[in-house]
Amino acid sequence: MRANMSYALYQARGGRITCGFDGYTTTRGRHEGIDIARGVGSDVHALVGGKIIYIARGHTGRSGLSTISIYNASLRKTVIYLHSAPRSSLRVGQMVGRGQVIADESWNGVSSRSTAHTHVEMRLGSRTHAAKSVGDPHLDNPNPGRFWNSQGYNVR
Ligand SMILES: [Zn+2]
Repeated sequence: MRANMSYALYQARGGRITCGFDGYTTTRGRHEGIDIARGVGSDVHALVGGKIIYIARGHTGRSGLSTISIYNASLRKTVIYLHSAPRSSLRVGQMVGRGQVIADESWNGVSSRSTAHTHVEMRLGSRTHAAKSVGDPHLDNPNPGRFWNSQGYNVR
């Protein structure tokens, strides 16, 4: 029995996918992750465990991108969370368990509070940064659907 990503990210009802992988319709570029939204202040939980390899503490507004990058060595994948505010206790090098709270949903690197969301991106190997989505015609990441299924999640 798989859990829906939009539930598991928050461990609460009310989350929804607002843009799928490569799902841009009006934005130029290729969407390298999956956007999931529930609302500012929602607890954001790690979907996959691993080691924190990079943290950027952003601020609200378009120029304030935040990043949490968690590398799972046995899977050889990095899961990167953008836009949500990292918990102050997080440190690079720390191990994070599946389901552990890592952030509060916010709008760090998003132009308006009303469009707050968490961008969840699977990357091959150890990668500190998300691939460029907006304005970049090249898709760097493979479709993550089977990866998410293998980790026990429905992409919805
Ligand atoms: Zn996104």
